[in-house]
Amino acid sequence: MFENFYIFASVNPILMEERLSIEDIGGRLRASGLKVTNQRIAVYRALASLGHASVDSIVSEVRRTLPVVTVAAVYNILETMAESGLIGRVLSTGRKIYDITPAYHDHLIVDDGCEVVDLEDPEIRKLVEMHLSGKSFEGYRVRGARLYVDVEKI
Ligand SMILES: [Zn+2]
Repeated sequence: MFENFYIFASVNPILMEERLSIEDIGGRLRASGLKVTNQRIAVYRALASLGHASVDSIVSEVRRTLPVVTVAAVYNILETMAESGLIGRVLSTGRKIYDITPAYHDHLIVDDGCEVVDLEDPEIRKLVEMHLSGKSFEGYRVRGARLYVDVEKI
């Protein structure tokens, strides 16, 4: 329907893999046009293990293997990876949350962004696509839609 819509089949395909090898991550970096460095491998691996995470959480994870890495270095690597399309960003939280899954998909925003969870609900996705199909907003063309559903833990 829309070129950027993405119906995903699993919660997080990368997290379902056993453990990404350095070669796997290197291949993904190269495929995105990025140079392979130890820091980039460590940052990608950290985000892959966390799924969705803030810079601070990723820094903590990376420091388990690279104790001297700086917050600025990790932030710059994440931004570079996001710009290249290797990873995604969750846009609806007040702070930057990076997403190991770069393609369009929907999210539950738990307790104002304390946690972010992939939302896998083909029915909602289909309703949104049907509603927006052929719809235009004055001066704009619809390219796609992401759902952010605010929820609280019960
Ligand atoms: Zn996600």
